[in-house]
Amino acid sequence: MQVEEMINRDMGERVGDPAIDGGHPVAVLVQNEETDVFELQEAELEKVLLDPRIADKHVCVLAVAGAFRKGKSFLLDFLLRFMNAQQSTDFLNDTDKPLTGFKWRQGSKRETTGVLIWSEPFLVKRKSGEEIAVVLMDTQGTFDTQSSMKDSTVVFALTTMVSSVLIYNLMNNIQEDDLMNLQLFTSYGMMAQEDTPDTAHPFQRLHFLVRDWGFPYEVPYGHQGGQHLLDEILQVTEKQHPAHQEVRRDLRKCFRDINCYLMPHPGFKVIQKANFDGRLKDIEQEFVEHLKILVPRLLAPENLVKKEIGGQPIKSRDLLKFFTIFMEVFKD
Ligand code: GDP
Ligand code: MG
Repeated sequence: MQVEEMINRDMGERVGDPAIDGGHPVAVLVQNEETDVFELQEAELEKVLLDPRIADKHVCVLAVAGAFRKGKSFLLDFLLRFMNAQQSTDFLNDTDKPLTGFKWRQGSKRETTGVLIWSEPFLVKRKSGEEIAVVLMDTQGTFDTQSSMKDSTVVFALTTMVSSVLIYNLMNNIQEDDLMNLQLFTSYGMMAQEDTPDTAHPFQRLHFLVRDWGFPYEVPYGHQGGQHLLDEILQVTEKQHPAHQEVRRDLRKCFRDINCYLMPHPGFKVIQKANFDGRLKDIEQEFVEHLKILVPRLLAPENLVKKEIGGQPIKSRDLLKFFTIFMEVFKD
């Protein structure tokens, strides 16, 4: 890295936990406090996506999307830990280390709606020698009022459009509303890439992540249980309302593959302990065991999914353009 670049980086505003070296969260879509309009932080995005290490590499963008206070940032910080550990399966060996990275927290204070990415993309080498850049993305929104619905749609539609792995983080179960919301986000994302050939799916991987799954004796935790639940939920039957049939067909058409993972509850210390700092010691062992399976499923080198537009993998520098194209579409 050039000295000048290093200086520029250090001058950047730190919004994350200052205790971390090796990166910080960068807000790339923020809502203007006065006008409520969403603004793309192009200069910030450029710093990350045009980093000479990755600008001409294919890119995997993993985004975690969903409502507030459902453990999204918490999960992302385990994904970060895995990436920082060079994707080693030992990434959870230190049980006394506080969890840092994207801000996660207890309480119920109002949160801002928007999109953040990790300032340092990871460059991963596959067995074939191919290198892929990995960008981690955190998003927040909520659908509890009419106005928040409109705001969240911008956030999640953008996220759907630019990610290659969209983790849809849900509490307890997958509801009809969740499917309807996804259909809405994908419809905007499709407008921004009209020339996708019929043979290609506009989006790559959708991953439902159900937190605090409550029926492990009926459908077990993990990937297989998730797949079972998903098959049931996405089944199209004559008895369903036509709109419910359509949403299911649409989702299958939009995403090349759809997965689901059922996570256990992380334990009472995670939700109640006053000074809980994310250390594994305070987290239920079963949850930790599932992190050890889930995280490599998402981010091990051979499991990375490249971002494609129009059926072709794109480079990090091209991804930057799609952010701006998307924002143009959404203005109308
Ligand atoms: P976000 O708003 O979705 O990003 O949520 P955060 O990651 O900030 O987490 C909000 C709270 O949920 C924190 O207090 C976490 O300790 C807690 N939390 C994290 N993961 C889980 C989970 O799987 N289940 C439950 N019930 N709580 C969790
Ligand atoms: Mg968060």
